[in-house]
Amino acid sequence: MTEVNERVLLDEEFRYATVSIEHLEELQRDFDDLYEEGHLSDNKTFLSYIEGKRYAVPDSFPEAKSVVVLAVRTPLALVNFRADGKQYETIVPPQYYSSGRTVEQIMNTIHQKIIGEPGSRLEYANQHLLLKRLAVRSGLGRYGRNNICYVDGMGTLLTLHAFFSDHEFSTDNWVEARMMDECHNCTICMDSCPQGCISEDKFVIDVGRCVTLYNEIGGEFPEFIHPDSHNALMGCMKCQAPCPANQDVLKRTIRLEDVISEETQAILEGNHTEELLGTLGRKLRGFGGLPSPEAFAVLRRNLSVLIS
Ligand code: SF4
Ligand code: SF4
Repeated sequence: MTEVNERVLLDEEFRYATVSIEHLEELQRDFDDLYEEGHLSDNKTFLSYIEGKRYAVPDSFPEAKSVVVLAVRTPLALVNFRADGKQYETIVPPQYYSSGRTVEQIMNTIHQKIIGEPGSRLEYANQHLLLKRLAVRSGLGRYGRNNICYVDGMGTLLTLHAFFSDHEFSTDNWVEARMMDECHNCTICMDSCPQGCISEDKFVIDVGRCVTLYNEIGGEFPEFIHPDSHNALMGCMKCQAPCPANQDVLKRTIRLEDVISEETQAILEGNHTEELLGTLGRKLRGFGGLPSPEAFAVLRRNLSVLIS
């Protein structure tokens, strides 16, 4: 464990780092350089994800002095869909279901365990900031060759959260962006990616070919996404599941409630009643935005391609 990560250890479930608000300018410069040097994808969906995000003090909170960035342990989940006397086991990566922790609960944790006193103001920053780079520059995480953020003890099985704070912390964690030591003699993720997104010579992956970019949103899959590339109910675990840095944390995988035959059948046929949306929202813990009909349509398409 590095010196920085000893400082960011909070407990089994959370790790955090605090950075001075002054570093946001540098983060934005880093990002602008990547963009201008052509290292970022010009894929429209990708650009829509980053649109409106800027490393800057928000207008709503000019007194902000620090950013608290947290990794919350969130296991991989499995869920069985039953249909025609068979059982289809699918994967739900951490970002796509609700762990049950609310932003308010995380704020309470920050007040009690990080700041140590109530009264200071916190504002949720996830809608303003690109979190992965922030987490890596804060020393909370490191990049894998697959460009995903790894945190000690959690691998990639986590969710990231950031908060602006008007508290001035005595510790300002700030480091150069680093790749995990484990990556230096390893190409497992590169060899496992079904879309050829990861290359040895380029640090930034070819996000425009990545399955994740297409199965999170509605619409038809582009032809260059091979049917065999699909492996999760949303997102993609092909470059994370075989990674040596994830093997311990994968043992914590949880199972969501089975989706019974009648429900699976209705999903595949696209028949959504209010009751079914509610049941799926509960069983799949808000998967991808359930119980909304738009999320149901994405679920139907993704499940169909996995089952077929
Ligand atoms: S599979 Fe190997 S190269 Fe890829 S992120 Fe994991 S350790 Fe690094
Ligand atoms: S998420 Fe899937 S498609 Fe994207 S880089 Fe990783 S293995 Fe490749």
